Amino acid sequence: MIIPKADKLSNNQLQEIESIVGEFDCTILEIQGHNQCVYAILGDETHAVMFKRIAGLPYIRKVDAIESPYKLMDRRSALSNHQVRIGHVNVGEGRPFIIGGPCTIDPNSPQLFIETAHALKEAGVDALRGGVWKPRTNPYSYQGDNKAIDIILKAREETGLPIDIEVMDSAQLKIALDSNVDILQVGTRNALNYSLLKEIGETSAGTNSSILLKRGRHVASPDEFIAAAEYLVAAGNPNVMLCPRGTTPPLEGYRNHPDESISPLLKNRTWAPVVVDPSHSVGHAEYVLASSLAAIAYGADGLCIESHIEPSKGIGDDPKQAITPREMKELILSCTQIWKYRYLPKD
Ligand code: PEP
Ligand code: MN
Repeated sequence: MIIPKADKLSNNQLQEIESIVGEFDCTILEIQGHNQCVYAILGDETHAVMFKRIAGLPYIRKVDAIESPYKLMDRRSALSNHQVRIGHVNVGEGRPFIIGGPCTIDPNSPQLFIETAHALKEAGVDALRGGVWKPRTNPYSYQGDNKAIDIILKAREETGLPIDIEVMDSAQLKIALDSNVDILQVGTRNALNYSLLKEIGETSAGTNSSILLKRGRHVASPDEFIAAAEYLVAAGNPNVMLCPRGTTPPLEGYRNHPDESISPLLKNRTWAPVVVDPSHSVGHAEYVLASSLAAIAYGADGLCIESHIEPSKGIGDDPKQAITPREMKELILSCTQIWKYRYLPKD
């Protein structure tokens, strides 16, 4: 990883570096952070001579050689101070970042979604979620509808809140990017779909779209999870959040095996914010508060929670696992207390 002294390399400087790494069969990838560009060396970048030549250039601050399977996601990488900014908020700064909204947008009841969006804004969420296209285990269940995107775009316009939707293929990705969707969600079923991850990272590079990457539910280890996120960053988009969402087989009584406890492991290894999804983890509205409090106690930066103004009228997961906006408000207040406790001075 190459860090220039200035915010960015000039074209001539970039060309000079490209010709050096080219001699060693490597190429350069530019990664645009909010404040600074850094440059990853792609290929077999173990050549000490190549490193020394680049480090000796007058406009280079540092060349990092991190021995890690995820050298861009690594805590010690040049992105270690990178902040994921969504709307006007840096994720994990000052308070928990909360994404809330229905599992699935019902295209036949747009008003329920719009009312939920307003109620959630009032409850204090930072971003709205809502499934336009749904990955359903049962092929005969509702699969989503292109029309639903207009409903969530309307909700964004009315509330001013950034929006999060899951994308599963190129066509959905294109629609989401054309609509400037603020958060592209990669679901647990695609969490290790490397060609999709590369495509999402490439096409969203340099845009305002961040990515919420769920953990693979078949117990992706912390390293496998972080390495999947590396695909997104290495393809050009460093605005990535890691989302533990429970693994299978489930803990008897829950929908999955709750995994908020991996938050500190992730945070020790990578700079990326951790946004836990308690809804799919426990799978029942009545346990969502406990799992959320635990996630924040474990050091998570935020939460992604299913919420609906009238859960029983929702579709998808909403009737069983959505909490109401009123419960969301209480949950945010309680989580903020735990958050503050984390930052109390220790003697
Ligand atoms: C969802 O967020 O509604 C969803 C389908 O999530 P997951 O991919 O974690 O199952
Ligand atoms: Mn869901």
